Amino acid sequence: MHQVLKELESYLSKDLQYSRILSSMCTNPHPVAVKAHTMFIRTNLGDPGLFPGTAELERKLISELGKLFGKKDVSGYIGSGGTEGNIQAIRAAKNVTGKKGNIVVPESAHFSFAKIGDLIGVEVRRAKLDGEYRVDTGDVERLIDDDTFAIVGIAGTTELGQVDDIRALSDIALENDVFLHVDAAFGGFVLPFLGIRDFDFRVEGVCSLTADPHKMGMATIPSSAILFREEEYLEALNVETPYLTSAKQYTLTGTRPGTGVASAYAVLRYLGFEGMKKVVLECMRITRLIKDEVEATGLEAVIEPVTNVVCFRCRAEKVREELKKMGWIVSTIRRPEAIRCVVMPHITESLAFEFVEALKQVVRNL
Ligand SMILES: *Cc1c(COP(=O)(O)O)cnc(C)c1O
Repeated sequence: MHQVLKELESYLSKDLQYSRILSSMCTNPHPVAVKAHTMFIRTNLGDPGLFPGTAELERKLISELGKLFGKKDVSGYIGSGGTEGNIQAIRAAKNVTGKKGNIVVPESAHFSFAKIGDLIGVEVRRAKLDGEYRVDTGDVERLIDDDTFAIVGIAGTTELGQVDDIRALSDIALENDVFLHVDAAFGGFVLPFLGIRDFDFRVEGVCSLTADPHKMGMATIPSSAILFREEEYLEALNVETPYLTSAKQYTLTGTRPGTGVASAYAVLRYLGFEGMKKVVLECMRITRLIKDEVEATGLEAVIEPVTNVVCFRCRAEKVREELKKMGWIVSTIRRPEAIRCVVMPHITESLAFEFVEALKQVVRNL
């Protein structure tokens, strides 16, 4: 066995360490998440009758998340990622409304919606953004027609961390009798801890919500929650499952790990609301610190950070390449041209100062 492990190690050691990565919405899992993950390593929620304890834990986690997101008796499950959550929300919307025409998403929507258009065979209409890179709700209204069955709002966009006006989208959804899905894959475990609450089930028109514990929830990958306001939305996803311990299955994947349930639950339970809030506030403090330090060098932030993401206008591809040579990984966004820094919990204050120094040097030599 030793030989095999040594071989594996040689591959693993080629991977990058998170400490110099500002391009990812993932991070080192919390130690309690790693312990929980290991404990549940053999579980398969695809066949829940064989794992009644893990299935019970999942129901408990869903109910905890329901409390966090403003509806105690929410329905849902833990899947593989925000992509799965978004797919399932739009599938449910299609099945409950019985329509199969088009959906309206913000231009800032995650690329998973391109997959959804292809998979579900619906037209994905993209609404313009306003000057602050929130979806232009007037444009959403303009794009809705008789064949529209769902609209999407984003609470924490992938590129800028911006939050759409979910209240306004809710009014539009209720008026036009369409399903409203909120993609809070990133923001779900940030916004509640900043006191921002008007993106979740507290807003009347919100039918479903995606939130990823494997991003700011510090759980192990994969762990992502898809939550529905009504049980019937979840049931609209059911197919019959002969030869398993359950008669029906609403999940997208069949075999499904219990590890993400255990690790997400462990972090929530161990840190509690106050502990998670501390982590998020520290990420926000460091985000603002990076913003102030970098702006002092003459680069301008695209928006005032709403979540722990900050983007700077510059010759982005050039800056990204130069930073990479110095060992720092950032990503770029296209509109506007900018570099993007996601300030996850692994970016400590001293790493942030080191990063700013590197960026300053790059800017001086541009
Ligand atoms: C990360 C992200 C997703 C996709 O989540 P995966 O876990 O990578 O599938 C979807 N929407 C938003 C807003 C995201 O930030």
